[in-house]
Amino acid sequence: MNSFVPQNPADNADVSRETSPGAYGDLLGDSRETPAGSNYGVPDTPLARAAHAAMAVRGHDEVWPRPAACRVIGVANQKGGVGKTTTTVNIAAALAMHGQRVLVVDLDPQGNASTALGMERDTQTRSIYHCLVEDEEIRKLAQPVPDIPNLWCAPATIDLAGAEIELVSLVAREARLKRAFAAYDTSDLDYILIDCPPSLGLLTVNAMVACDEVMIPIQCEYYALEGLGQLLRNVELVQSHLNPGLAVSTILLTMYDGRTRLSQQVADEVRSHFKETVLDTLIPRSVRVSEAPSYGQSVMTYDPASTGAVAYLEAAREIAHRARAIAG
Ligand code: ATP
Ligand code: MG
Repeated sequence: MNSFVPQNPADNADVSRETSPGAYGDLLGDSRETPAGSNYGVPDTPLARAAHAAMAVRGHDEVWPRPAACRVIGVANQKGGVGKTTTTVNIAAALAMHGQRVLVVDLDPQGNASTALGMERDTQTRSIYHCLVEDEEIRKLAQPVPDIPNLWCAPATIDLAGAEIELVSLVAREARLKRAFAAYDTSDLDYILIDCPPSLGLLTVNAMVACDEVMIPIQCEYYALEGLGQLLRNVELVQSHLNPGLAVSTILLTMYDGRTRLSQQVADEVRSHFKETVLDTLIPRSVRVSEAPSYGQSVMTYDPASTGAVAYLEAAREIAHRARAIAG
């Protein structure tokens, strides 16, 4: 078995990107010092300093407990635009910034997670498509995320749009991703987060077969619970036929707007149904969260002091600390 670690985290220093000055316009500024006592060997770049500032916001450089074995978490909801990608990217960044070694697998042909993590994506890019359809090793196609040590991304390219159809004729089509994970020793990784597309097709099924846990982001809006029953039924189907260990471990309420009664009502309803599966932390609606991807960044680095970044940090802390819970 090959060791996973796609590339040495120290290589991150070599992949710093050209970023427009605007990307740093509201960052903490060069004058802000790197928090003392850091032990991540972070390169001295504005993004790396901002990443450390995110920890300083919490008052200390805290390293969270590493799981005994790599936790594979699929972030799924067939409803579009509920915050799957935003959640994947920012939870992954927050975990990596607290000493966890994290791989993001972009399983959505839209490639939004890849963009948000500043991945190189051109016609030559080897992507998760090549892993699923051509048996390419994930280790070879995963790229280090610029300026966030311990974080890698297996990018998606538009080829993936055809994968749903191409997979149909392949042997064990539902288990292609699981097979790809099994081919490697993932003991060097603490988390694999899979960003699913807004559908319940073969790509999402591949994620559910490959993962141990499903995390469902729910947008605090009208119709938020629409389709949730169907998603849970699909999880049960995969549980009973393909992956008995699968569990809905986490529900995260996103785009919460404290000024509206509707947000509060949706949050209450979700909590009353799913109880302790729902994280205590609510992700607020925040302009900074929605701006970050256009700079190829997570909000954790784009504006670590913003309410959205602090909330995602808290949510990631809960995930790292809490025992696995099963949705009732
Ligand atoms: P899709 O189903 O298309 O993959 P998704 O579920 O991955 O969508 P995102 O892309 O993460 O959802 O979010 C949808 C939109 O909402 C994006 O424009 C994103 O920037 C924005 N958004 C997500 N979370 C927040 C937030 N907390 N505050 C403000 N905007 C947000
Ligand atoms: Mg998405």
